[in-house]
Amino acid sequence: MNSLIYNIPVHLVPHYRDRRVVVRALELNNIAEVLPDSDRENLQFIQLPSAGIEPANLNGFADWGEDVPLDILINDPVQEFPLLYHFSKLLDKHPIRVSIAVKPGFIKAVKLAAALNFAVKLVVGQPDDVLIEEMSQVLDMYLHRSGISQPIEYFHSLFLSSYRQEPTSLWMIQEDDPDHFRFISDEGEETVSPRFAGSDPASRTPSNGSSDCSACEFETRCGGYFKWPDADYNCRGVKILFATIEAAAEELRGDVASMIAVQGGPQPL
Ligand code: SF4
Repeated sequence: MNSLIYNIPVHLVPHYRDRRVVVRALELNNIAEVLPDSDRENLQFIQLPSAGIEPANLNGFADWGEDVPLDILINDPVQEFPLLYHFSKLLDKHPIRVSIAVKPGFIKAVKLAAALNFAVKLVVGQPDDVLIEEMSQVLDMYLHRSGISQPIEYFHSLFLSSYRQEPTSLWMIQEDDPDHFRFISDEGEETVSPRFAGSDPASRTPSNGSSDCSACEFETRCGGYFKWPDADYNCRGVKILFATIEAAAEELRGDVASMIAVQGGPQPL
């Protein structure tokens, strides 16, 4: 089977049978009709393009299937975050992730999503200093607040990668890697990812031509992610976030090693 994952609108489901798909849907009450059991095998998750869906429209999804992940896109965090309450009733049957655009005030949506036990993904472009400050607060929350029970990406995967000293790629974590993902527009046009809008994916280089990346200590995990779309973007702020994650992972590794030295036994993570 083709290993790519295609993000498709729901009306194109019949054209992508035998492919792994993320299905975008505006309407969930009829989900059992448009996605029969036979089409569910290759389904990665259902994606809602906005939290602004009528609560009654969630009933069909609440009653459908088991453990079908739902990803809710929040493009306007300040306006949309109170709507997240409507989705809490789905958690009994389905895992929920909220993909939140990193825009001013987005931390409110992150806090509520975390309080509701939803996983979070930060949809981040090239954050300015104001947004870096807000991201720092979210990172602090992820690293130090004991009540956080679900991952906040991309921080979570980077932290685990640093802790385990295993390779990872921000392009993969953010589901933007051209070797693994495709985005199919409502008209059926194939692109790599909305991150590449307006550029030619075929000419993509990881660092978007920036020489900064080759000298960057975080290049192995970042892979030039923050040099898109503007290759001249100043990475000072995102590098501080990378360094904070690495330091926290290093600290935990040290604590665990000390504990093992005192108590003996296997490494817990
Ligand atoms: S942090 Fe910036 S300079 Fe470093 S690898 Fe990522 S995009 Fe390149």
